[in-house]
Amino acid sequence: MLGSNLGIMTRISKSGGCQCGRVRYTTSVDPDEAYLCHCRMCQRATGGVAAVFVSVAQADTQWVSGPDWYASSPIAKRPFCSACGTPLGFQFAEGSANMDLTIGSFDDPSDFRPKHHFGAEGIHEAWLDTSALPRIRSDEHTVLVQKWKDAGAQPPA
Ligand SMILES: [Zn+2]
Ligand SMILES: [Zn+2]
Repeated sequence: MLGSNLGIMTRISKSGGCQCGRVRYTTSVDPDEAYLCHCRMCQRATGGVAAVFVSVAQADTQWVSGPDWYASSPIAKRPFCSACGTPLGFQFAEGSANMDLTIGSFDDPSDFRPKHHFGAEGIHEAWLDTSALPRIRSDEHTVLVQKWKDAGAQPPA
């Protein structure tokens, strides 16, 4: 798709994995190829109001330590970690060169930009524009901060 970059894909190498670290991947990705999927299958698979994905080429993606796979329908399977439960992506069961990885599973998810909404029939409008809601930082929540201190650990940055 032509954009401000005149159609030149800007691919960068990125890594990610599940919460417990058992599953790890590396891939080459265009951060502008991200999107939200609001379909009911993705809501159930991730527990969110939408799944947030970036499309990558399967050929560019290496599972350093492989995921478990759930056949979520006759046409699709979803990688996840059976130890910690992290949803890691989406892949058609067959016939596709690409797959999706979940934005939140990347080690640094900060540079992705969504370009469209998919599964628009499942959009829950109340969650789309939340920018005016009050913002409470984790490190301002004294009960949470004390729990981390009591556990002798540092809160995740
Ligand atoms: Zn895990
Ligand atoms: Zn979906």
